[in-house]
Amino acid sequence: MELIGPISQLVSLQDLSLKGPINDSALHTISNAGIAIDNDTIVAVDTWDALLAAYPNAMITELNGTYVAVPGYIDCHTHLCFGGNRARDFALRNAGVSYLEIAQSGGGIWDTVTQTRKCTEKELTQIVIQNANKQLQLGITTIEVKSGYGLSVEEEIKMLRAIRNGNKETAADLVATCLAAHLPPKDFSGTNEDYLNYLVTNLFPVLQSEKLTNRIDAFIETSAFSALEIAPYLQSAKGLGFDITIHADQFTTSGSEVAVQYGALSADHLEASGGKEIELLAQSKTIAVALPGASVGLGCAFAPARKILDKGGALAIASDWNPGSAPMGDLICQASILATFEKLTTAEVFAGITFRAAAALDLFDRGRLIAGNKADFVLYPSNHYRDILYYQGSLRPSKVWKSGKLVSA
Ligand SMILES: [Zn+2]
Repeated sequence: MELIGPISQLVSLQDLSLKGPINDSALHTISNAGIAIDNDTIVAVDTWDALLAAYPNAMITELNGTYVAVPGYIDCHTHLCFGGNRARDFALRNAGVSYLEIAQSGGGIWDTVTQTRKCTEKELTQIVIQNANKQLQLGITTIEVKSGYGLSVEEEIKMLRAIRNGNKETAADLVATCLAAHLPPKDFSGTNEDYLNYLVTNLFPVLQSEKLTNRIDAFIETSAFSALEIAPYLQSAKGLGFDITIHADQFTTSGSEVAVQYGALSADHLEASGGKEIELLAQSKTIAVALPGASVGLGCAFAPARKILDKGGALAIASDWNPGSAPMGDLICQASILATFEKLTTAEVFAGITFRAAAALDLFDRGRLIAGNKADFVLYPSNHYRDILYYQGSLRPSKVWKSGKLVSA
């Protein structure tokens, strides 16, 4: 048993609902708090004095200074396993060159596919570790990481192995997702349906035999796969017991409808979602994931986060860290920007990057500082939680604990 404190202010996020709007007055805080942990698990969260009295024989880790504690963040949508960068695309886009022209001149997602294929599994593993550790410094203790820059059975397996290897070498928990249905590969001879069939037949069995992932993602969009094309693919995935998540409604709708229809854990992007899609999502168990980093990177509208919450939906916020549309990767900065444009309460933003994001990964043992949860938490040099979003990402954590261990200080 170990007691960590005293902490000027602790935000537990206990008792907040998975869906719908949250007022800041619902935030549960403890002043002069402490956290009691046993190995990787929280045993109790209370005032420092109460913990000292309740556990007189515990080891004490005494903090000197002013700190506010929040749960470790969960980034439930990233593409942080990639080769190269796309700074050229960014500059060209801002100079007014069209998406099509950029793609035709060697840019776009296919450029990242080419760069990622050039990396060895070992090189990709190093990239995963480096990027995950960068997120850990921001207080992100659980990170979803997608494949999808391989786009062949061998190359997708290479990416997923790199994510698995990386998971062993970083203190953050990495959750792998197979996004082989990211876009139809240029070098595959056959229709989109042929490509998806090829994945079902040749990739799905390896994902299961090597236990590389139990999550299947697909990009439903004009430039990728249509709702009609993807249906048999998702049907097969579901039949094999995979969890589903969908890149939905980024530029055109239909993705979120498919997500709800197939009971997806999450529908992500949603910049183009209208009233019908928002209603469908709100009435479902699917978590709606806003990706403000992609809106900032592309100069596009944000997902209708306020409307999703007001209709009763579950809103998570993720970084979408990728080399093309969202190179920043700073979840707190992005969530704070989304809050100003969409008028989200502080409680809604915290929920969106903690327990609601965890639910998008089917994880219910993290994202709140309560007994029984993983001992993942972040300390900021401040005495009030409001400072965290107010500084729009520039207030950095002083210390980060992951599974009961101090991993960043
Ligand atoms: Zn994405």
